[in-house]
Amino acid sequence: EHCSKYLVTGGAGFIGSHLVDALLAEGHRVVVLDDLSTGQPGNIARAEANPLFRFVRGSVLDAPLVDRLVQECETVIHLAAAVGVKLIVEQPLTSFITNTKGTETVIESAHRHERRILIASTSEIYGKNSSGRLTETSDRILGSPSVARWSYSTAKAVDEIMACLYHRERGLRSTVVRFFNTVGPRQSPAYGMVIPRFARQAVRGEPLTIHASGRQRRCFLHVADAVAALLLLLERPDAEGQIFNIGADDEISIRELADRIITQAKSVSLVEHLSYDDAYGPGFEDMERRVPDTTKLRALTGWRPRRTLSDILS
Ligand code: NAD
Repeated sequence: EHCSKYLVTGGAGFIGSHLVDALLAEGHRVVVLDDLSTGQPGNIARAEANPLFRFVRGSVLDAPLVDRLVQECETVIHLAAAVGVKLIVEQPLTSFITNTKGTETVIESAHRHERRILIASTSEIYGKNSSGRLTETSDRILGSPSVARWSYSTAKAVDEIMACLYHRERGLRSTVVRFFNTVGPRQSPAYGMVIPRFARQAVRGEPLTIHASGRQRRCFLHVADAVAALLLLLERPDAEGQIFNIGADDEISIRELADRIITQAKSVSLVEHLSYDDAYGPGFEDMERRVPDTTKLRALTGWRPRRTLSDILS
């Protein structure tokens, strides 16, 4: 057999299902492990028609199952995680355990069977506070214990530490990727991700709900470009033991984004502002500007995004 076999945890999710399609298109065999907590069967419906594909419904917390699947594969891409602001805010402890224990379980098996592994982290690693004199609440990851979403960034920080320590001390062939805002087909508006939510509101003629001032700046990468970055990194043995940002460099304020979506959808919608407190409850904070430097990824792999924000919106 010439094709390699990949295990994609969280492969029924948004980024995972696009990665699955790309791997199948290259003729690889793919196994998905997903508990369908936020993933959708519809995301992998097309893949399921492919004989190279296998879906296993189960959890990354199930160590014997994970170990069996990792052993069968050559490469592991670990994307399964509790995600979505609402879920994290409502269930911080359960999310924390999924996002640390799950990763530990997958890393442990990858180490045991000497598999190459790619692990998904997040731009939230960079914390909520980007500038200014430091106070007791400007801890880069925790923010403060009152920051409602600390469990997600903290768990991902633990994942990165595990990946790096297993690499340094035990030779785990791991690469960490920090996704910045990634968007595209199949992304559910249910999580509160801003583009799917604005798009739905615009199409329905409802007001677009801007959280806080709308002056906060973000960048948006098409999921196909994110998947391309993953595939390039997997080709590079020198990416092992390293961390890479994956994101777009064109930034836009949320207010401008709302205006562009209204125009592009030829919508009659107005915009409406909602405080973070009203959107997520007390204690919620977010970064003013979240934009990556992707020099490292570009230099190593030659990657560059092929799609613009206009492509994404249309
Ligand atoms: P997603 O919710 O669509 O994908 C996550 C998948 O993991 C889902 O299919 C879910 O059912 C599955 N899952 C959750 N808990 C599981 C468990 N215990 N066992 C097995 N499967 C489980 O979200 P996504 O946007 O595709 O995110 C994929 C990865 O990328 C995540 O690790 C996330 O933290 C990271 N990430 C995404 C973004 C983004 O902008 N989309 C940004 C930063 C980081």
